[in-house]
Amino acid sequence: MSEPVLTFPASRSGALARWEAFQPLVPAYGAKRNLVVPGHPHVSRLSPAIRGRLVTEDEITASLLAGHPSSVAQKFLQEIFWRRYWKGWLETRPAVWRDYADRLEALKGTLHEVVRRRADEVMAGRSGVAIMDRFARELVETGYLHNHARMWWASFWIHVERLPWEVGADFFLRHLLDADAASNTLNWRWVAGLQTKDKPYLVTRANLEQCCAPELLADTTGLERLDEKKVRATVFDVVGPDAPTPTPEASRFATYPTKPAQPAERSGLWIHEEDLTPEIGELHETAFVAVAAFTSAAEDGAASLGAPRRRHRDTSFADAVERAGGHFGCTAELLPVATLAEGLAAWAVKERLGAVVAYAPAVGPLNDRLEAVRAALATAGVELVLCRRPTDFQLWPYARGGYFGFMGQAEKWLKAHTKAQAKARAATAS
Ligand SMILES: Cc1cc2nc3c(=O)[nH]c(=O)nc-3n(C[C@H](O)[C@H](O)[C@H](O)COP(=O)(O)OP(=O)(O)OC[C@H]3O[C@@H](n4cnc5c(N)ncnc54)[C@H](O)[C@@H]3O)c2cc1C
Repeated sequence: MSEPVLTFPASRSGALARWEAFQPLVPAYGAKRNLVVPGHPHVSRLSPAIRGRLVTEDEITASLLAGHPSSVAQKFLQEIFWRRYWKGWLETRPAVWRDYADRLEALKGTLHEVVRRRADEVMAGRSGVAIMDRFARELVETGYLHNHARMWWASFWIHVERLPWEVGADFFLRHLLDADAASNTLNWRWVAGLQTKDKPYLVTRANLEQCCAPELLADTTGLERLDEKKVRATVFDVVGPDAPTPTPEASRFATYPTKPAQPAERSGLWIHEEDLTPEIGELHETAFVAVAAFTSAAEDGAASLGAPRRRHRDTSFADAVERAGGHFGCTAELLPVATLAEGLAAWAVKERLGAVVAYAPAVGPLNDRLEAVRAALATAGVELVLCRRPTDFQLWPYARGGYFGFMGQAEKWLKAHTKAQAKARAATAS
Protein backbone atom coordinates (compact mmCIF):
# COMPACT_ATOMS: atom_id res chain seq x y z
CA MET A 1 0.00 0.00 0.00
CA SER A 2 1.44 3.37 -0.94
CA GLU A 3 1.82 5.92 1.85
CA PRO A 4 0.03 9.25 2.02
CA VAL A 5 2.04 12.13 0.58
CA LEU A 6 2.83 14.57 3.35
CA THR A 7 2.28 18.24 2.81
CA PHE A 8 3.23 21.14 5.03
CA PRO A 9 1.65 24.53 4.34
CA ALA A 10 4.26 27.04 3.18
CA SER A 11 1.85 29.95 2.83
CA ARG A 12 -0.24 31.83 5.34
CA SER A 13 -3.49 30.91 3.62
CA GLY A 14 -2.42 27.26 3.56
CA ALA A 15 -1.52 27.35 7.26
CA LEU A 16 -4.85 28.93 8.18
CA ALA A 17 -6.70 26.35 6.08
CA ARG A 18 -4.79 23.51 7.76
CA TRP A 19 -5.61 24.94 11.18
CA GLU A 20 -9.29 25.20 10.20
CA ALA A 21 -9.29 21.60 8.99
CA PHE A 22 -7.70 20.46 12.25
CA GLN A 23 -10.45 21.95 14.46
CA PRO A 24 -12.66 18.82 14.54
CA LEU A 25 -9.61 16.80 15.65
CA VAL A 26 -8.80 19.02 18.66
CA PRO A 27 -11.07 17.10 21.10
CA ALA A 28 -9.28 13.80 20.38
CA TYR A 29 -5.82 15.38 20.23
CA GLY A 30 -4.83 14.62 23.84
CA ALA A 31 -5.66 10.93 23.52
CA LYS A 32 -4.19 10.39 20.05
CA ARG A 33 -1.24 12.77 19.68
CA ASN A 34 1.30 10.14 20.74
CA LEU A 35 0.27 7.63 18.08
CA VAL A 36 2.65 7.42 15.15
CA VAL A 37 0.65 6.56 12.06
CA PRO A 38 1.62 7.05 8.38
CA GLY A 39 0.36 10.44 7.20
CA HIS A 40 0.28 11.68 10.84
CA PRO A 41 -3.49 12.20 10.95
CA HIS A 42 -3.67 12.84 14.71
CA VAL A 43 -1.35 15.87 14.83
CA SER A 44 -1.64 19.21 13.10
CA ARG A 45 1.63 19.17 11.08
CA LEU A 46 1.58 22.92 11.60
CA SER A 47 4.94 23.23 13.32
CA PRO A 48 6.85 24.49 10.22
CA ALA A 49 4.18 27.19 9.77
CA ILE A 50 4.07 28.13 13.44
CA ARG A 51 7.83 28.08 13.79
CA GLY A 52 8.16 30.54 10.88
CA ARG A 53 5.14 32.48 12.09
CA LEU A 54 3.16 32.13 8.91
CA VAL A 55 0.55 31.93 11.61
CA THR A 56 1.51 33.13 15.09
CA GLU A 57 1.13 31.36 18.42
CA ASP A 58 -1.10 34.25 19.48
CA GLU A 59 -3.48 33.62 16.58
CA ILE A 60 -3.61 29.86 17.21
CA THR A 61 -4.19 30.40 20.93
CA ALA A 62 -7.00 32.91 20.39
CA SER A 63 -8.79 30.78 17.81
CA LEU A 64 -8.31 27.59 19.87
CA LEU A 65 -9.90 29.17 22.93
CA ALA A 66 -12.67 30.75 20.89
CA GLY A 67 -13.56 27.44 19.26
CA HIS A 68 -13.40 25.01 22.19
CA PRO A 69 -14.11 24.91 25.91
CA SER A 70 -10.85 25.28 27.82
CA SER A 71 -10.96 21.66 29.03
CA VAL A 72 -10.97 20.50 25.38
CA ALA A 73 -8.40 23.05 24.22
CA GLN A 74 -6.05 22.36 27.13
CA LYS A 75 -3.72 19.76 25.62
CA PHE A 76 -3.11 21.58 22.35
CA LEU A 77 -2.68 24.83 24.26
CA GLN A 78 -0.04 23.22 26.45
CA GLU A 79 1.89 22.10 23.38
CA ILE A 80 1.83 25.57 21.86
CA PHE A 81 3.15 26.85 25.16
CA TRP A 82 5.93 24.25 25.19
CA ARG A 83 7.26 26.03 22.13
CA ARG A 84 7.06 29.39 23.91
CA TYR A 85 8.60 27.96 27.07
CA TRP A 86 11.62 26.54 25.27
CA LYS A 87 12.07 29.83 23.39
CA GLY A 88 12.00 31.83 26.61
CA TRP A 89 14.29 29.35 28.36
CA LEU A 90 16.99 29.57 25.70
CA GLU A 91 16.57 33.28 25.17
CA THR A 92 17.38 33.87 28.83
CA ARG A 93 20.30 31.43 28.77
CA PRO A 94 22.15 32.08 25.50
CA ALA A 95 25.26 30.40 26.95
CA VAL A 96 23.54 27.03 26.52
CA TRP A 97 23.19 27.59 22.75
CA ARG A 98 26.76 28.94 22.52
CA ASP A 99 28.08 25.90 24.35
CA TYR A 100 26.19 23.53 22.02
CA ALA A 101 27.42 25.36 18.90
CA ASP A 102 31.03 25.42 20.16
CA ARG A 103 30.99 21.72 21.02
CA LEU A 104 29.54 20.85 17.63
CA GLU A 105 32.25 22.85 15.91
CA ALA A 106 34.94 21.18 18.04
CA LEU A 107 33.51 17.71 17.31
CA LYS A 108 33.85 18.31 13.57
CA GLY A 109 37.63 18.29 13.99
CA THR A 110 38.02 15.78 16.81
CA LEU A 111 35.44 13.05 16.33
CA HIS A 112 37.11 9.66 16.06
CA GLU A 113 36.90 8.27 12.53
CA VAL A 114 35.02 5.15 13.70
CA VAL A 115 32.43 7.26 15.53
CA ARG A 116 32.06 9.61 12.59
CA ARG A 117 31.48 6.73 10.18
CA ARG A 118 28.89 5.15 12.48
CA ALA A 119 27.12 8.50 12.88
CA ASP A 120 27.00 8.84 9.08
CA GLU A 121 25.54 5.33 8.76
CA VAL A 122 22.83 5.99 11.34
CA MET A 123 21.91 9.33 9.72
CA ALA A 124 21.76 7.63 6.32
CA GLY A 125 19.22 5.14 7.68
CA ARG A 126 21.64 2.20 7.86
CA SER A 127 21.79 1.51 11.60
CA GLY A 128 20.29 -1.95 11.21
CA VAL A 129 17.23 -1.14 13.34
CA ALA A 130 14.53 -0.99 10.67
CA ILE A 131 12.13 1.39 12.41
CA MET A 132 14.89 3.87 13.30
CA ASP A 133 16.21 3.71 9.73
CA ARG A 134 12.75 4.44 8.47
CA PHE A 135 12.56 7.52 10.69
CA ALA A 136 16.00 8.75 9.49
CA ARG A 137 14.88 8.45 5.87
CA GLU A 138 11.54 10.09 6.59
CA LEU A 139 13.31 13.07 8.13
CA VAL A 140 15.65 13.55 5.17
CA GLU A 141 12.97 12.97 2.53
CA THR A 142 10.12 15.00 4.06
CA GLY A 143 11.73 17.37 6.60
CA TYR A 144 9.31 16.17 9.27
CA LEU A 145 9.11 13.61 12.04
CA HIS A 146 6.30 13.05 14.50
CA ASN A 147 7.21 14.25 18.02
CA HIS A 148 7.27 10.72 19.41
CA ALA A 149 9.52 9.55 16.56
CA ARG A 150 11.87 12.47 17.33
CA MET A 151 12.02 11.35 20.97
CA TRP A 152 12.66 7.70 20.07
CA TRP A 153 15.24 8.49 17.42
CA ALA A 154 17.14 10.95 19.63
CA SER A 155 17.10 8.43 22.47
CA PHE A 156 18.29 5.66 20.14
CA TRP A 157 21.14 7.91 18.96
CA ILE A 158 22.23 8.88 22.47
CA HIS A 159 21.47 5.89 24.68
CA VAL A 160 21.69 2.94 22.26
CA GLU A 161 24.19 4.02 19.62
CA ARG A 162 26.05 6.20 22.17
CA LEU A 163 26.76 8.89 19.61
CA PRO A 164 27.37 12.56 20.56
CA TRP A 165 24.00 14.24 21.08
CA GLU A 166 25.22 17.49 19.50
CA VAL A 167 25.80 15.75 16.14
CA GLY A 168 22.32 14.22 16.23
CA ALA A 169 20.75 17.56 17.14
CA ASP A 170 22.57 19.16 14.22
CA PHE A 171 21.22 16.46 11.87
CA PHE A 172 17.69 17.40 12.96
CA LEU A 173 18.35 21.13 12.68
CA ARG A 174 19.68 20.79 9.13
CA HIS A 175 16.68 18.80 7.91
CA LEU A 176 13.58 19.75 9.90
CA LEU A 177 11.21 22.16 8.15
CA ASP A 178 10.42 23.47 11.64
CA ALA A 179 14.11 23.65 12.67
CA ASP A 180 14.21 25.74 15.80
CA ALA A 181 17.27 26.25 18.00
CA ALA A 182 15.26 26.32 21.24
CA SER A 183 12.84 23.41 20.70
CA ASN A 184 15.52 21.27 19.10
CA THR A 185 18.50 21.85 21.40
CA LEU A 186 16.45 21.69 24.58
CA ASN A 187 14.45 18.61 23.55
CA TRP A 188 17.73 16.85 22.69
CA ARG A 189 19.15 17.92 26.06
CA TRP A 190 15.99 16.60 27.71
CA VAL A 191 16.29 13.20 25.98
CA ALA A 192 19.95 13.08 27.01
CA GLY A 193 19.07 13.79 30.66
CA LEU A 194 20.88 17.13 30.66
CA GLN A 195 17.85 19.39 30.76
CA THR A 196 15.98 17.63 33.57
CA LYS A 197 18.96 16.35 35.50
CA ASP A 198 19.31 12.57 35.71
CA LYS A 199 15.98 11.96 33.99
CA PRO A 200 16.95 10.83 30.51
CA TYR A 201 14.29 9.66 28.11
CA LEU A 202 14.83 6.00 27.20
CA VAL A 203 13.37 4.47 24.05
CA THR A 204 11.87 1.00 24.52
CA ARG A 205 10.51 -1.62 22.21
CA ALA A 206 7.36 -1.86 24.36
CA ASN A 207 6.62 1.85 23.89
CA LEU A 208 7.21 1.62 20.15
CA GLU A 209 4.86 -1.36 19.92
CA GLN A 210 2.25 0.50 21.92
CA CYS A 211 2.33 3.74 19.87
CA CYS A 212 3.37 2.81 16.30
CA ALA A 213 0.87 1.69 13.69
CA PRO A 214 1.51 -2.06 13.12
CA GLU A 215 2.58 -1.55 9.50
CA LEU A 216 5.50 0.60 10.67
CA LEU A 217 6.80 -2.30 12.74
CA ALA A 218 6.20 -4.99 10.12
CA ASP A 219 9.96 -5.20 9.67
CA THR A 220 11.27 -6.06 13.13
CA THR A 221 14.93 -6.12 12.13
CA GLY A 222 17.12 -4.94 15.01
CA LEU A 223 14.20 -4.28 17.33
CA GLU A 224 15.71 -6.55 19.98
CA ARG A 225 18.34 -3.86 20.58
CA LEU A 226 15.57 -1.79 22.13
CA ASP A 227 14.40 -4.44 24.62
CA GLU A 228 13.81 -2.69 27.90
CA LYS A 229 16.59 -4.36 29.82
CA LYS A 230 19.17 -3.56 27.15
CA VAL A 231 18.75 0.22 26.96
CA ARG A 232 20.94 1.93 29.52
CA ALA A 233 21.24 5.67 29.89
CA THR A 234 24.44 7.29 28.71
CA VAL A 235 26.04 9.14 31.58
CA PHE A 236 27.57 12.49 30.74
CA ASP A 237 30.72 13.68 32.52
CA VAL A 238 30.60 17.16 31.11
CA VAL A 239 27.20 18.72 30.98
CA GLY A 240 28.13 22.25 29.95
CA PRO A 241 26.63 25.40 31.38
CA ASP A 242 23.49 24.21 33.05
CA ALA A 243 22.55 27.80 33.84
CA PRO A 244 19.35 27.06 35.75
CA THR A 245 19.12 30.73 36.59
CA PRO A 246 18.61 33.14 33.72
CA THR A 247 21.75 35.10 32.97
CA PRO A 248 21.76 38.87 33.28
CA GLU A 249 21.58 38.90 29.52
CA ALA A 250 17.84 38.39 30.07
CA SER A 251 17.75 42.11 30.60
CA ARG A 252 18.43 42.51 26.91
CA PHE A 253 14.72 41.90 26.39
CA ALA A 254 14.49 45.52 27.32
CA THR A 255 16.77 46.59 24.49
CA TYR A 256 14.21 45.69 21.82
CA PRO A 257 11.12 47.84 21.50
CA THR A 258 7.86 46.10 20.67
CA LYS A 259 7.17 48.84 18.17
CA PRO A 260 9.97 50.92 16.70
CA ALA A 261 9.38 54.61 16.33
CA GLN A 262 9.36 55.42 12.60
CA PRO A 263 13.12 54.97 12.39
CA ALA A 264 14.20 56.82 9.27
CA GLU A 265 12.66 58.65 6.41
CA ARG A 266 13.38 55.72 4.14
CA SER A 267 13.02 52.45 6.03
CA GLY A 268 13.09 48.98 4.59
CA LEU A 269 11.66 45.78 6.09
CA TRP A 270 13.86 42.70 6.24
CA ILE A 271 11.75 39.53 6.30
CA HIS A 272 13.45 36.42 7.61
CA GLU A 273 12.54 32.87 8.59
CA GLU A 274 11.63 33.73 12.19
CA ASP A 275 8.67 35.95 11.42
CA LEU A 276 6.79 35.70 8.14
CA THR A 277 3.70 37.76 8.96
CA PRO A 278 4.95 41.32 9.50
CA GLU A 279 1.73 42.83 8.21
CA ILE A 280 -0.05 41.65 11.35
CA GLY A 281 1.09 43.09 14.66
CA GLU A 282 2.89 46.19 15.80
CA LEU A 283 4.66 46.85 12.51
CA HIS A 284 1.51 46.96 10.44
CA GLU A 285 1.31 50.75 10.30
CA THR A 286 5.02 51.41 9.79
CA ALA A 287 5.81 53.12 6.50
CA PHE A 288 8.26 51.04 4.50
CA VAL A 289 9.61 51.98 1.10
CA ALA A 290 10.88 48.48 0.34
CA VAL A 291 10.54 44.93 1.62
CA ALA A 292 12.92 42.03 0.98
CA ALA A 293 13.86 38.52 2.03
CA PHE A 294 17.17 36.91 1.08
CA THR A 295 18.40 33.45 0.22
CA SER A 296 22.01 32.42 -0.11
CA ALA A 297 22.69 29.11 -1.83
CA ALA A 298 26.32 29.34 -0.69
CA GLU A 299 25.38 29.76 2.98
CA ASP A 300 22.72 27.03 2.76
CA GLY A 301 25.34 24.76 1.22
CA ALA A 302 27.92 25.59 3.90
CA ALA A 303 25.32 24.78 6.57
CA SER A 304 24.37 21.54 4.71
CA LEU A 305 20.66 22.31 4.88
CA GLY A 306 18.37 19.61 3.53
CA ALA A 307 16.58 20.23 0.21
CA PRO A 308 13.00 19.99 1.62
CA ARG A 309 13.92 22.50 4.31
CA ARG A 310 15.29 24.98 1.75
CA ARG A 311 12.31 24.54 -0.55
CA HIS A 312 9.82 25.04 2.27
CA ARG A 313 11.61 28.15 3.54
CA ASP A 314 11.92 29.71 0.08
CA THR A 315 8.25 29.10 -0.72
CA SER A 316 7.31 30.63 2.65
CA PHE A 317 9.58 33.61 1.87
CA ALA A 318 7.89 34.17 -1.48
CA ASP A 319 4.48 34.09 0.19
CA ALA A 320 5.55 36.50 2.96
CA VAL A 321 7.19 38.92 0.53
CA GLU A 322 4.10 39.04 -1.67
CA ARG A 323 1.78 39.68 1.28
CA ALA A 324 4.05 42.31 2.82
CA GLY A 325 4.51 44.10 -0.52
CA GLY A 326 0.74 44.29 -0.93
CA HIS A 327 0.16 45.44 2.62
CA PHE A 328 2.89 48.08 2.82
CA GLY A 329 2.37 49.16 -0.78
CA CYS A 330 6.03 49.11 -1.79
CA THR A 331 8.48 47.09 -3.84
CA ALA A 332 8.94 43.62 -2.40
CA GLU A 333 11.62 41.17 -3.49
CA LEU A 334 12.98 37.73 -2.74
CA LEU A 335 16.65 38.15 -3.55
CA PRO A 336 19.24 35.43 -4.11
CA VAL A 337 22.51 36.79 -2.66
CA ALA A 338 26.09 35.63 -2.10
CA THR A 339 25.88 36.19 1.66
CA LEU A 340 23.04 37.49 3.79
CA ALA A 341 25.08 40.36 5.25
CA GLU A 342 26.43 41.62 1.92
CA GLY A 343 23.11 41.13 0.16
CA LEU A 344 21.16 43.04 2.79
CA ALA A 345 23.63 45.92 2.69
CA ALA A 346 23.61 46.04 -1.12
CA TRP A 347 19.80 46.09 -1.12
CA ALA A 348 19.74 48.88 1.49
CA VAL A 349 22.09 50.95 -0.65
CA LYS A 350 20.10 50.27 -3.84
CA GLU A 351 16.89 51.39 -2.08
CA ARG A 352 18.66 54.39 -0.46
CA LEU A 353 17.52 53.25 3.00
CA GLY A 354 18.37 55.01 6.23
CA ALA A 355 17.26 52.04 8.33
CA VAL A 356 16.46 48.36 7.99
CA VAL A 357 13.75 47.13 10.37
CA ALA A 358 13.25 43.48 11.35
CA TYR A 359 11.90 41.30 14.10
CA ALA A 360 14.85 40.33 16.30
CA PRO A 361 15.81 36.70 15.65
CA ALA A 362 15.77 34.61 18.83
CA VAL A 363 18.94 32.89 20.07
CA GLY A 364 20.05 30.51 17.32
CA PRO A 365 21.78 30.38 13.93
CA LEU A 366 20.23 33.52 12.43
CA ASN A 367 20.92 35.51 15.57
CA ASP A 368 24.55 34.32 15.31
CA ARG A 369 24.77 36.10 11.95
CA LEU A 370 23.39 39.40 13.25
CA GLU A 371 26.75 40.89 14.06
CA ALA A 372 27.89 40.44 10.46
CA VAL A 373 24.60 41.91 9.22
CA ARG A 374 24.85 44.90 11.53
CA ALA A 375 28.48 45.51 10.53
CA ALA A 376 27.74 45.36 6.78
CA LEU A 377 24.82 47.75 7.19
CA ALA A 378 26.86 50.11 9.36
CA THR A 379 29.58 50.22 6.68
CA ALA A 380 26.86 51.28 4.24
CA GLY A 381 25.67 53.92 6.72
CA VAL A 382 22.40 52.11 7.42
CA GLU A 383 20.93 51.51 10.88
CA LEU A 384 19.55 48.10 11.89
CA VAL A 385 16.40 48.49 14.01
CA LEU A 386 15.14 45.33 15.73
CA CYS A 387 11.88 44.81 17.55
CA ARG A 388 9.98 42.05 19.37
CA ARG A 389 6.38 40.96 19.40
CA PRO A 390 4.86 42.12 22.70
CA THR A 391 3.66 38.68 23.80
CA ASP A 392 7.17 37.19 23.44
CA PHE A 393 8.43 40.05 25.50
CA GLN A 394 5.78 39.33 28.14
CA LEU A 395 5.96 35.51 28.21
CA TRP A 396 9.58 34.55 27.74
CA PRO A 397 10.80 35.90 31.08
CA TYR A 398 8.41 33.45 32.84
CA ALA A 399 10.68 30.62 31.69
CA ARG A 400 12.70 30.95 34.85
CA GLY A 401 12.53 27.30 35.93
CA GLY A 402 10.49 24.27 34.87
CA TYR A 403 7.67 24.11 32.32
CA PHE A 404 4.85 23.74 34.86
CA GLY A 405 5.87 26.87 36.74
CA PHE A 406 6.00 28.67 33.39
CA MET A 407 2.58 27.34 32.38
CA GLY A 408 1.05 28.43 35.69
CA GLN A 409 2.22 31.98 35.08
CA ALA A 410 1.30 31.81 31.40
CA GLU A 411 -2.28 30.76 32.19
CA LYS A 412 -2.75 33.76 34.48
CA TRP A 413 -1.20 35.97 31.83
CA LEU A 414 -3.49 34.46 29.18
CA LYS A 415 -6.63 35.19 31.21
CA ALA A 416 -5.63 38.83 31.69
CA HIS A 417 -4.50 39.17 28.07
CA THR A 418 -7.74 37.68 26.67
CA LYS A 419 -9.82 39.98 28.88
CA ALA A 420 -7.83 43.05 27.80
CA GLN A 421 -8.22 42.12 24.14
CA ALA A 422 -11.99 41.65 24.48
CA LYS A 423 -12.22 45.05 26.18
CA ALA A 424 -10.21 46.68 23.40
CA ARG A 425 -12.43 45.07 20.75
CA ALA A 426 -15.57 46.28 22.53
CA ALA A 427 -14.16 49.79 22.76
CA THR A 428 -13.37 49.82 19.03
CA ALA A 429 -16.84 48.53 18.18
CA SER A 430 -18.68 51.16 20.24
C1 LIG B 1 14.45 15.63 19.80
C2 LIG B 1 13.37 16.63 19.42
C3 LIG B 1 13.68 17.67 18.57
C4 LIG B 1 12.71 18.63 18.23
N1 LIG B 1 13.05 19.65 17.39
C5 LIG B 1 12.12 20.59 17.10
C6 LIG B 1 12.45 21.68 16.25
O1 LIG B 1 13.58 21.85 15.78
N2 LIG B 1 11.46 22.58 15.96
C7 LIG B 1 10.19 22.45 16.47
O2 LIG B 1 9.35 23.29 16.16
N3 LIG B 1 9.88 21.44 17.28
C8 LIG B 1 10.79 20.52 17.62
N4 LIG B 1 10.44 19.48 18.43
C9 LIG B 1 9.10 19.48 19.05
C10 LIG B 1 8.00 18.70 18.32
O3 LIG B 1 8.46 17.44 17.96
C11 LIG B 1 7.47 19.40 17.10
O4 LIG B 1 7.15 20.76 17.37
C12 LIG B 1 6.21 18.63 16.67
O5 LIG B 1 6.56 17.38 16.18
C13 LIG B 1 5.39 19.45 15.82
O6 LIG B 1 4.58 18.72 14.93
P1 LIG B 1 3.06 19.07 14.77
O7 LIG B 1 2.87 20.51 14.54
O8 LIG B 1 2.52 18.12 13.76
O9 LIG B 1 2.59 18.66 16.21
P2 LIG B 1 1.26 18.94 17.02
O10 LIG B 1 1.13 17.80 17.97
O11 LIG B 1 0.13 19.23 16.16
O12 LIG B 1 1.68 20.17 17.88
C14 LIG B 1 1.10 21.43 17.82
C15 LIG B 1 2.11 22.48 18.09
O13 LIG B 1 2.57 22.39 19.44
C16 LIG B 1 3.97 22.65 19.50
N5 LIG B 1 4.65 21.46 20.04
C17 LIG B 1 4.22 20.18 20.02
N6 LIG B 1 5.08 19.37 20.64
C18 LIG B 1 6.10 20.15 21.06
C19 LIG B 1 7.33 19.90 21.77
N7 LIG B 1 7.65 18.68 22.21
N8 LIG B 1 8.16 20.94 22.02
C20 LIG B 1 7.83 22.19 21.61
N9 LIG B 1 6.69 22.48 20.94
C21 LIG B 1 5.84 21.48 20.66
C22 LIG B 1 4.39 23.00 18.10
O14 LIG B 1 4.29 24.41 17.94
C23 LIG B 1 3.36 22.31 17.25
O15 LIG B 1 3.23 22.88 16.00
C24 LIG B 1 11.40 18.51 18.77
C25 LIG B 1 11.09 17.44 19.63
C26 LIG B 1 12.06 16.51 19.95
C27 LIG B 1 11.71 15.38 20.88
